[in-house]
Amino acid sequence: MTEPLRVTVWNEFRHEKEHESVRSVYPEGIHKTIAGAMEKAGFRVRTATLDEPMHGLTPDVLEGTDVLIWWGHMAHHEVSDDIVAAVHARVLDGMGLVVLHSGHFSKIFKRLMGTSCDLKWREAGERERIWAIDPSHPIAAGLGQYIELPHEEMYGEHFDIPAPDELVFVSWFQGGEVFRSGCVFHRGRGKIFYFRPGHETFPTYHREDIQRVIANGVRYVAPSDTAKPVYGNVKPIEVLPESH
Ligand code: ZN
Repeated sequence: MTEPLRVTVWNEFRHEKEHESVRSVYPEGIHKTIAGAMEKAGFRVRTATLDEPMHGLTPDVLEGTDVLIWWGHMAHHEVSDDIVAAVHARVLDGMGLVVLHSGHFSKIFKRLMGTSCDLKWREAGERERIWAIDPSHPIAAGLGQYIELPHEEMYGEHFDIPAPDELVFVSWFQGGEVFRSGCVFHRGRGKIFYFRPGHETFPTYHREDIQRVIANGVRYVAPSDTAKPVYGNVKPIEVLPESH
């Protein structure tokens, strides 16, 4: 049997401390809810939060992480540039990254995308239907045609990201907007899965279907154990003719 994937769930963990409307939904923090779901999915799970030393992302933790899950919102600017650089290097070297909801504006996601990652938004608690638009994709495994969330924040196009390497979900919102809500990107040897839902005042991460998508995403972006690319000046593999 292969070793279980090592998953680190990173959460800013500020809304839950400062806002009763969020604490009542996630009393122990969004990271604990997601971590519990990932344990049930069979992964070996740890959590890390912004206010821990090095945001809980020491070199040992990052080295021992196959897939990092990221939720942040109100304190993106407090994340140290050194930690962002370390996470970025790990992703390029093959660590998987799952970026959730407002993580679209995190330093690490913007750095990996190279664009503003801006979007439209509205907090009206409206209905969202997340359509699986690639029925062959492993991240959509075990779902129906769509997931319907009765109340979510709206994110609308245009979403300023590079064209995703794989587009798995598109959301429709009651107010009329649409959004690319499940996107996979390849960077170096690493893969990134961005998944849209999860506004902090709604119980979205308590839902089994949403937890299933996150677990599917973890498996999909897990390291592929591919060869490290070789760059720079190289000797020929075959004997070249003496003159040409
Ligand atoms: Zn939100």
